[in-house]
Amino acid sequence: MLLNIADIPDEGLEQELDIPVVPGENVGSGTARVRIKVFRTGKKVLVQGSLRVSLSLRCSRCLQEFSYPVAADFSDEYSPAEEFESEGEQELTAGEMDLSYYRNEELNLSDVVREQVLLSLPMKPLCRPDCGGLCPHCGRDLNRESCQCREEDADPRLDPLRKLKKSMEDSGKT
Ligand SMILES: [Zn+2]
Ligand SMILES: [Zn+2]
Repeated sequence: MLLNIADIPDEGLEQELDIPVVPGENVGSGTARVRIKVFRTGKKVLVQGSLRVSLSLRCSRCLQEFSYPVAADFSDEYSPAEEFESEGEQELTAGEMDLSYYRNEELNLSDVVREQVLLSLPMKPLCRPDCGGLCPHCGRDLNRESCQCREEDADPRLDPLRKLKKSMEDSGKT
């Protein structure tokens, strides 16, 4: 969804929009409800707003899909990309990389919203804080059923400790 910079009146533009979001790998797409205010300050464009969208994520522990509500407020300044590119510099400096851009006198609202959604997504999504995950041995979903693997295939590095514990228990019996 493109917004022509020339169409932004001096007093700013306020809109409520439904914008489709396709966040990328491992995240289901959704439609974001967006409230946005856009102001021009010289050649820069100030974008303020809030968005709400519910996306389908895959739990990093149990691999089940779950619905994740995103609600974000944002305020960002966009500069014309051409200003920097016309300076003849091959690469943008680190400081300039942090800036947001618009091109060809158009602000891509879909990109603005996608960027904000990505910033709001967890690095390691969890279907719930105490998700039990999958058993690394038998693959059972430990949220739904339990398994006996923990006892049988316990970490061999703990064997010495287990022996010590057992000998202490044995000596305690006498
Ligand atoms: Zn999970
Ligand atoms: Zn198991």
